[in-house]
Amino acid sequence: MSQQNKLINSLARPELVEMMPYQSARRLFASSEQSAANNVWLNANEAPGDGAYQVQASNINRYPDFQPENLLNGYSQYTKLPKSQLLATRGADEGIELVIKAFCRAYQDNILICPPTYGMYGISAQAQGVGIVEVPLVNNQLNVKAIAEQKGNVKVLFLCSPGNPTGNLLPKAQILQVLERFKNDAIVVVDEAYIEFSPTSSMQDLLDSYDNLVVLRTLSKAFGLAGLRCGFTLANSAIITMLSKVIAPYPIAAPVAEIASQALTQDGVKQMQAQAASINRSRDALSQWLAQQAWCKRVFDSSANFILFECSDKDEIFNLLKAQNILIRDQSKQPQLENCLRISIGSEQELTLVKTILSQALDTNTQVPVSTKV
Ligand SMILES: *Cc1c(COP(=O)(O)O)cnc(C)c1O
Repeated sequence: MSQQNKLINSLARPELVEMMPYQSARRLFASSEQSAANNVWLNANEAPGDGAYQVQASNINRYPDFQPENLLNGYSQYTKLPKSQLLATRGADEGIELVIKAFCRAYQDNILICPPTYGMYGISAQAQGVGIVEVPLVNNQLNVKAIAEQKGNVKVLFLCSPGNPTGNLLPKAQILQVLERFKNDAIVVVDEAYIEFSPTSSMQDLLDSYDNLVVLRTLSKAFGLAGLRCGFTLANSAIITMLSKVIAPYPIAAPVAEIASQALTQDGVKQMQAQAASINRSRDALSQWLAQQAWCKRVFDSSANFILFECSDKDEIFNLLKAQNILIRDQSKQPQLENCLRISIGSEQELTLVKTILSQALDTNTQVPVSTKV
């Protein structure tokens, strides 16, 4: 180890020395790599196709508003919630961080997560010196009884619905039981990053009944704006006020607010909804196709823009696609997900390519043209 590393490791918070940063899809495969231009990106649940947005960037010499008015108006119209119940953040990831920051004391308090689940809850807690209690999903649903036993031991619970990487919605009855059980003891965060693919399943309406509920949303998935870094926290105004104390002073860059506001006009929302409906159809068709493949052992139900599936040999499938510059996500290191891969629903063209490559390499019995198998 170099002198420099030794010094910095000895000065840093000890738990950070061994900590692994979040292995985001983009850290695993950078989009700026030479070869990346031709890649088909089906590993980060982004939307296919880039939108056309205008940026004026006037007044760029001035700091932006803390919460840009147009942006908040747009999201307020979209959710039908008052602005006092919304906080715009740098992606839903910042919402996760702020909830932990506002409600958990370092080296004392714990969050609760239900693996297999989204990685940033744990990373954010670790980065802030907060403990993590794991209550694994059972058949992709909550183990409500085991969660309830953690009353008094955890300050924030993270429930992901639709779940990433599992894809399914959590039963509303279970979420209600958890909210009820912890109503005087802990904040229950329902991460709805993918809710636009199943809009009637949002828990947003429960905000009136449960003071401990926080709902997380993002423009990164259905709205197709992952590069923008814009998300929203939905909660009662007391929680929003608390989170506002720990957020950066100018969290939303002016060009970000400009573009996001365009995406949140009535037209923009209509376009997003049409694209989400089309992605849902492609997803269902791909699920059916996967279920028919001999090498595919299981297809998980999905209410989101991706599918988790179990293979007899996940490396073979992953590498066949990788060799053709198609990137999907290996989820096999998550508990309960041995041999599982996750594929994002890209464009029809991209998905046809995936099916063609896998059929050509793996169809040993019949050489039926791919299009007739869908
Ligand atoms: C993608 C994702 C997020 C983070 O989204 P950003 O707004 O891009 O930070 C949060 N939660 C889940 C479950 C996700 O899949």
